[in-house]
Amino acid sequence: MKQERIYLDNNATTMVAPEARDAMLPFLGEKYGNPSSLHAFGGEIRHHLAEAHDHVYDLIDALDQDDVVINSCATEGNNTVLQGVYHTVVRNNAKNHIITSNVEHPSVLNTCKFLETLGVQVTYLPVNKEGIVTAEQVANAIIDRTALVSIMWANNETGAVFPVEAIAQAAKARGVLFHTDATQVIGKLPVSVRDRSIDFLTLSGHKFHAPKGVGALFVKAGVRLPPLLFGGEQMGGLRGGTHDVHNMIGLGMAALLAKKGITDEQTRIRALRDKLESTVLREISDTGVNGGTQHRTPNTANIWFKGVEGEAVLWDLNEHGIAASTGSACASGNEKASYVLLALGIGPEIAHSSIRFSLSRYTTEAEIDTALETIRTVIERLRNISFTYKKG
Ligand code: PMP
Repeated sequence: MKQERIYLDNNATTMVAPEARDAMLPFLGEKYGNPSSLHAFGGEIRHHLAEAHDHVYDLIDALDQDDVVINSCATEGNNTVLQGVYHTVVRNNAKNHIITSNVEHPSVLNTCKFLETLGVQVTYLPVNKEGIVTAEQVANAIIDRTALVSIMWANNETGAVFPVEAIAQAAKARGVLFHTDATQVIGKLPVSVRDRSIDFLTLSGHKFHAPKGVGALFVKAGVRLPPLLFGGEQMGGLRGGTHDVHNMIGLGMAALLAKKGITDEQTRIRALRDKLESTVLREISDTGVNGGTQHRTPNTANIWFKGVEGEAVLWDLNEHGIAASTGSACASGNEKASYVLLALGIGPEIAHSSIRFSLSRYTTEAEIDTALETIRTVIERLRNISFTYKKG
């Protein structure tokens, strides 16, 4: 009998929405024109792309005058912002200080590390035990030489939601540019750039049911940022390269669906996540939640199970057809404990015993019930064969 598979790793990537896939198919078939061509083959594509682009503007509440550059992924967006600010602000104005947090995605942290080799000073603000930095911390870290504050909107491992609006205001009050990596919040909570305090925002399609290989970068009207990829006039000259037409169409449809469903869907997902989490905590001893539970994306639960090795739990769950994660997909295979969990101030033993479950609009209650049964069985089995686990 074929085993039912249950996917609880939606912070790593999501299933492409059937509506997005259907919308894309004609652009992998008869609609193959280049939108930059003047003839009719190009014209029909331009029309569809404009519509898709509008949906991405709507998703984040951007104004017509803003730039929303469609690119390949959030990694590209984060690199474009950090390296771009280096060229426009750091090199030109001798402002050589960047503020970020110590739990950002590697696409921010490793770009910062690279900028350090070019002489930029980077402050990596430590998160508190809730897993966030506060606006006050950011305000206190700003100095006259600060060029940019880059703080994620939500963390991929804990789901912790940062007070981004307040942080953006703190940066704006000091005339400092503000960037947020919104990859893990898009499609999960409403996001708006309407109050004009956010200068740059990055997002990634595959985290909210668009295909892989497409993302977007918001640049507020009036803010200058050079392209990472110089080329033709695509995206207003902010990113060269022939448009990735089918992926843009998929992104547009996913954005439309995300905006439409955000309230009802997320209430349902939150209830399922809470059921998963509270049942585990109630029925399995020596367990707990990593990070704060109040300001969190509604789909994420990061739970520790004392006395077991996270990797072993994952393998056992996988044997039962259940997909979860020990940390970010980009770091799996790496035996070091998650730097995000360690940054919360928890010990390596607890960090190593932690599993992230992340849900989506396609997760059902029946799946959560099955997952709960399996989690119970797996943890009991692993603890029974453990030499070190002692209850209590
Ligand atoms: N930022 C965050 C917070 C992420 O979770 C991820 C994906 N794990 C990225 C950036 C990178 O996204 P992409 O795969 O689109 O490069």
